[in-house]
Amino acid sequence: MALEYEYLAAMNKAHLWHPFTQMKDYNSTDPLIIERGEGVKLYDVQGRAYYDGFSSVWLNVHGHNVPELNQAIIDQLQKVAHSTLLGMANVPAIELAGKLSAIAPEGLTKVFFSDSGATGVEIALKMAFQYWHNRGITGKQNFITMREAYHGDTIGAVSVGAIPLYHERFRPLLFQPYVIPYPQAYRHSGGAAGAMEDTLASLRDTLQKHGHEIAALIVEPIVQGASGMMIMPSGCLTEIAALCRQHDVLLIADEVATGFGRTGAMFACDLEQVSPDLMVVGKGLTGGYLPVAATLATDEVYSSFYADYEEQKTFFHGHSFTGNPLGCAVALASIKLFEERRIVEGTVAKAASVARRLAPLAQWPHVGDIRQQGLMIGIELVRDKATKEPYAWEDRIGVRTSLRARELGMLTRPLGNIVVFIPPLSSTEAELAAMTDILAAAIQDVTQKDWRP
Ligand SMILES: *Cc1c(COP(=O)(O)O)cnc(C)c1O
Repeated sequence: MALEYEYLAAMNKAHLWHPFTQMKDYNSTDPLIIERGEGVKLYDVQGRAYYDGFSSVWLNVHGHNVPELNQAIIDQLQKVAHSTLLGMANVPAIELAGKLSAIAPEGLTKVFFSDSGATGVEIALKMAFQYWHNRGITGKQNFITMREAYHGDTIGAVSVGAIPLYHERFRPLLFQPYVIPYPQAYRHSGGAAGAMEDTLASLRDTLQKHGHEIAALIVEPIVQGASGMMIMPSGCLTEIAALCRQHDVLLIADEVATGFGRTGAMFACDLEQVSPDLMVVGKGLTGGYLPVAATLATDEVYSSFYADYEEQKTFFHGHSFTGNPLGCAVALASIKLFEERRIVEGTVAKAASVARRLAPLAQWPHVGDIRQQGLMIGIELVRDKATKEPYAWEDRIGVRTSLRARELGMLTRPLGNIVVFIPPLSSTEAELAAMTDILAAAIQDVTQKDWRP
């Protein structure tokens, strides 16, 4: 076993380049190497167990190594692993398209598959852009996005991304959308109401001045994830949708993080009965098992592409693995489990008990803000609670808290100074209790006892 670890660690260091990772830092530590998973736990090659406290970066729904999901893949594998959707169909892709149309917000009846959240976003942007063109309206060539938005790492998705640390460097390569503030209550002098007012005023102004040149607005509905689990004040999404409609601007809901029960509704848009024109799903779509994403569109959008061959209104876009049968089969099995196990209802109840467990932390000296929507939780740590002064980048406060949590038996990954807690929706009350205990202990050890790795 030890030999195997040494060997893998050496190969890892020699050949594997990790995403969102400073390899110089990473290579100076002993790597965590996962071997298997079972329920809400992952096990490393040395046999240590860890709670998956961030659902393997916000993906996992029903836990790991779930017999029903495994079986769906095995059954499909014995038929065919992959066949294209270019000009032909396959059985699971058809069934999944029908299922997604049935469970999605009203009006989203057409499903275009891809293989990651970022590709799903690219597709939504290109569809929105071409939609207006197809209709003979050529001036609508730009987009509106929101400050600190994250929509994935391909160039179009980065263009509508607005997290300076990730995106600024690539500015010369990007198109330039209009940027309005996401309502971030914690650091807004007017709190939630003031933040919402600013967002809507900025949107109104942008639409009045530039609506005629804007194809679509893209938003992370209800929860802006990567910026630190920012939660929209209630009613804000409804207002955004109404303003877009008034100004003939399509609404793209990026539900890659929020979709599939995470927020306590099947889709975050459902929380306010908002029906976007385009919706992107990924992450939890397959229960976090395989790389499948989808861009859902209304009949209105779809029919603008529906024309005689010679008109060349075809959507010229596709990926080799579009509609992968294994992925679609496991997505169908996952959605079936949602229904059989009443996952969404369960998430609401579990979220309430997690909120009760985390409530005392709000009094702690370095806990600035606890933001929670469903089982999507961010805890912002601050150097000075009264002034909300952030910890310095060099303090690595989020990283240290996550390392301490790992030592105590739970995996998570911070967003700067924000500790992330996104457990699998299948977690039991007892598992959630154990995980919140570890989370609390890690925060206390690092912020109050100056624990260091
Ligand atoms: C993760 C994420 C994406 C990108 O998805 P990938 O599968 O990583 O490409 C896009 N939008 C949001 C809101 C996300 O959280």
